[in-house]
Amino acid sequence: MPDLMLQVTPTQTIPGFLVGEVQSKLAYVDEAIASARVDPQGERIDLTLNQPASPEQRSEIIDKVQHVVASLVEGAIQPKIQVLEDHMERPVPYRSDPNPELLARGEIFQEAQGIIALGPLLSRLMEYFESRFLELADSFGASPYRFPTLIPARYLDRVNYFHSFPHSLTFATHLRSDLDVIDHFAEHAACGEHGLNIPSQSFSPIQTLLSPAVCYHLYFALADQPLPDGQVIVTAVGNCFRYESNNLSSLERLWNFTMREVIFVGSKDFVLDQRETARQRMQQVFEEVGLAYRVESATDPFFIGEFRKQSVFQSAFQLKFEIRARLPFKDATLAVGSYNYHQNFFGRHLNITLPDGSAAHTGCVAFGLERMAYAFVAQYGLDPEKWPSAVFEAMQ
Ligand code: ATP
Ligand code: ZN
Ligand code: MG
Repeated sequence: MPDLMLQVTPTQTIPGFLVGEVQSKLAYVDEAIASARVDPQGERIDLTLNQPASPEQRSEIIDKVQHVVASLVEGAIQPKIQVLEDHMERPVPYRSDPNPELLARGEIFQEAQGIIALGPLLSRLMEYFESRFLELADSFGASPYRFPTLIPARYLDRVNYFHSFPHSLTFATHLRSDLDVIDHFAEHAACGEHGLNIPSQSFSPIQTLLSPAVCYHLYFALADQPLPDGQVIVTAVGNCFRYESNNLSSLERLWNFTMREVIFVGSKDFVLDQRETARQRMQQVFEEVGLAYRVESATDPFFIGEFRKQSVFQSAFQLKFEIRARLPFKDATLAVGSYNYHQNFFGRHLNITLPDGSAAHTGCVAFGLERMAYAFVAQYGLDPEKWPSAVFEAMQ
């Protein structure tokens, strides 16, 4: 049996608040790494490799891992976690892992890692949560929009997305419009273990990606012009794509998921007030739904080079709060939504102006529909009779 384990002792201890971050970034370090685990004390990293590696390959992997640790740990400042709501102790009846039962009932069908089809119970639950998020949108008089799943590369480039989140991008391409290329493809394309057997020159240069979030589309639609009436509130739902490598796992971390957003554009005070109002209104909804959760400050999953700088900035300015639902079966939490404020970042980069000529501020409230349904069944199980009446009755 070849030795597929590789143990790394970090040159510096990974502080507790960075253990999760280091672990999730190790998924992007080397294709030979199948999985990584950082021990809670931050003194040891256990890697499992896909295939046996030579001593040279092993030492290369170790160097890369040490590099990641150093970049994330050196000079890192522990963010002060601010808790805005704590309903973690709300009693919930279910304790088991819902995955085996979801699988047995045909409620989840995994097409590939991170690509999961959902059955009727989960679909109805997602629709139910959608209806509650739409109520929130209506309470703001939000205008409905429909955005494409594709997003032009030049847009994402304009807002530095490639620099901040390169690891999770998903690219869309097509065959070059050339008869020989298309004929060759039609004749020879076959999907093997390593994907399509087609030379990369057959594909057109990448100009388009699959959208990583919903609200970007609105900011692009508003770019390079004064904001009508100085403020807008919009709502939209969309397919979002984030390639999370080895971290892709069950409904918790999908490559392709669905996000409903309520988006605010206007002055700083306007955006911050709306974000806070949204949080307060959702508190009532989550109570009716019986969700055990807390709302706490968080940072976006920036890639290694950007993480330290951006995360300190985000927490200092309270730019992001996550709704973290309890997963009783694993004694962990999962972000089912977030309340975000981007300051005038998009306003500046995309030249969206307020009536006084200054750059517009933006913010959004974003809910992950699959995660919402998943966290709910993790807390209440799959038998609707045991669900809180608000959910049970709405599903009849
Ligand atoms: P996480 O901290 O779990 O990586 P995030 O901070 O990247 O999530 P946001 O950018 O705030 O998430 O996205 C809004 C919501 O979209 C999240 O709260 C979550 O419910 C959902 N979401 C984000 N990434 C995924 C994913 N890979 N799979 C399923 N849902 C997701
Ligand atoms: Zn958003
Ligand atoms: Mg997060």
